[in-house]
Amino acid sequence: MPRVHNFCAGPCTLPLSVLEEAQGELVDFASTGMSLIELSHRSPEYDEVHRQTIDRFRAVFNVPEDRAVLLLQGGATLQFSMVPMNLLRPSERAGYVRSGSWGVAAERDAANYADVYPAWDGEPLSYARMPDEAELEVQAGTRYLHVTSNETIEGIRLPSFPNLDVPLVIDMSSDYLSRPIPWDVIDLVYGGVQKNLGPAGLAVVVIRRELLEQTNRNLGSYLRYDRHAEQDSLLNTPPMFAIYLMGKVLVWMQGLGSVEGMQERAERRSGAVYGAIDSSGGFYRSPVDPRHRSLMNIVFRLSSEDLEQRFLKEAEAEGLVNLKGHRSVGGVRASIYNAMTDDGVEALVAHMRSFRDANA
Ligand SMILES: *Cc1c(COP(=O)(O)O)cnc(C)c1O
Repeated sequence: MPRVHNFCAGPCTLPLSVLEEAQGELVDFASTGMSLIELSHRSPEYDEVHRQTIDRFRAVFNVPEDRAVLLLQGGATLQFSMVPMNLLRPSERAGYVRSGSWGVAAERDAANYADVYPAWDGEPLSYARMPDEAELEVQAGTRYLHVTSNETIEGIRLPSFPNLDVPLVIDMSSDYLSRPIPWDVIDLVYGGVQKNLGPAGLAVVVIRRELLEQTNRNLGSYLRYDRHAEQDSLLNTPPMFAIYLMGKVLVWMQGLGSVEGMQERAERRSGAVYGAIDSSGGFYRSPVDPRHRSLMNIVFRLSSEDLEQRFLKEAEAEGLVNLKGHRSVGGVRASIYNAMTDDGVEALVAHMRSFRDANA
């Protein structure tokens, strides 16, 4: 059974070399006579995997020394709550950019714990673009501005990060480690790893260490960033297999030039697909502002739902799977995360050309 080209928006395809390596180590990890997932999380063998993974994450993403890297469960969704619970005091407020489905979801959860307001709302524009910096309305007394660097469902991304007088909190779930970021203006970055870095079950939070002195202490231990940082993300049993696999993906990324290499790769590959859209004579249509096109989730439409169905069906017959747009927006969505192969992208572009030629 050959591997298909999996364009799933999450969980993502993973490098074949990583899966094969894990397969080879599954039954007997590092001559322990057991698999990694059967080891104690306090064993020296696991400890080494854990620490190396954190070090590699720091190296690949150029994380400054003054930041803590936390490996947590609960996905990005738990961070929608943990961020305001930890960072906001009763008198403080935060601005949220409603850039798309995920930005809206983050604000909705935060509103359960804190005083939050929309700093911009893309809903009247059908989330077809991100805000320009000058459009952001940051109110006095704002503790942080929450932005979503890439809106996975609508297929838009922030081409650059706002540099205002307010620290940023960024949900990078769907473009994590696919681009360098301006650490100076950022207090906290988070993301689930299942889009760009590994399997589901793990989220990585990068927080300014000095903030850990001021985070909220009146929370259950799992909800406290300071506790996780003190314990090097070994406060409780961590998601060992997901951490181990992410470690392998990070090694694979280092071999391709780390975050800078991933950015070049994303520009080249998304460029090929947008090229196929733009040169199709209107057969394929991108609904988003060209300035804010996502390099990860490429969303496009055909002239009718009927034609879209046929496009998807014929793609699947060629081994191009999970190209259906999110149920809330329809159409086609090709998610080209870090581990998607060049072959997969070329096969998609070839299918787009031949389907257009046969049906235009
Ligand atoms: C997928 C996604 C989420 C939700 O992630 P979970 O890890 O499933 O909770 C949040 N934000 C963005 C931008 C996403 O793409």
